[in-house]
Amino acid sequence: MPTEPQVLISEVGPRDGLQSVQATMPTAYKLAWIDALHAAGLREIEVGSFVPARLLPQMADVAEVVRHSTALPGLAVMALVPNRRGAEAALAAGVNKLTLPVSASEAHSLANVRRTRAQMVDEVRSIVALRDERAPQVRVEAGVSTAFGCTIQGKVSEDDVARLAAALAEAGADEVGLSDTTGMANPAQVRRLFGRVRAEIGGRTGAAHLHNTRGLGLANCLAAYDVGVRTFDSSQGGLGGCPYAPGASGNVVTEDLVFMFESMGVATGIDLERLLHARRVLQAGLPGEPIYGMTAEAGLGKGFVYADGRQPRGGEGTASATGNEA
Ligand code: ZN
Repeated sequence: MPTEPQVLISEVGPRDGLQSVQATMPTAYKLAWIDALHAAGLREIEVGSFVPARLLPQMADVAEVVRHSTALPGLAVMALVPNRRGAEAALAAGVNKLTLPVSASEAHSLANVRRTRAQMVDEVRSIVALRDERAPQVRVEAGVSTAFGCTIQGKVSEDDVARLAAALAEAGADEVGLSDTTGMANPAQVRRLFGRVRAEIGGRTGAAHLHNTRGLGLANCLAAYDVGVRTFDSSQGGLGGCPYAPGASGNVVTEDLVFMFESMGVATGIDLERLLHARRVLQAGLPGEPIYGMTAEAGLGKGFVYADGRQPRGGEGTASATGNEA
């Protein structure tokens, strides 16, 4: 029975989630939520983004959130940075890992950051140099966004994605992940594209950042797992992920992803009951905001055991949520 985690679940809710909602979660709730996620066993959390507060008031307290989070034992504290200026601030705040989104779609890149893909690769190179100089222990991840399709140009060529991943690795990124920013991926495509990227950059292949926009989030995660991906981004309650239609969920739901892996016998290191507790902290900090997830609704089910053979402690979240199970 495995005791060491076999996959790394990287929680992106405090960044991807909170920057996508209208409301701003008060700092005290953010810290309590991150504490609760850490207590549930999460060991990598994207806690915010270093962008000007006038653009994203939800992230105005990011430096404080980073300082708090870096005191949690064993936690890799990650922050999104859109450019070198953001990277400078993130390194000054003491993050353990930087993540920089780079669009595979030239049209998306120009519309979003007014820069070409080639310019973004140069930005990554410059951030890697900055990291080498100021904080060599910090990891740099590049996330290839719109890797599976783009809302502006539609289809994104797989050659473009593979080429961009290789260029980012060559520029010094420690990890290069693929993001289904627009929720267009399907499992066959995920298998093919991650397979190609692994062939191109091997061990530098990073996280699968997949969305549940059309209900394929878990199927896509499993497809990525099948071709060797071992880091998965997800968001508690499926918060965020820029859903394009009201009622559409965004990121893969952390609770459901952990349930899938644990019930398959793949250890995540995460305690689902504590994770469901963290979900209540999230809800308390964002009253009225819709959050998603089937496992939280249904409970863990009778007979559920973790990958390491542990049984749930039998507290809340383990029984049927409706209580009318026959
Ligand atoms: Zn996302």
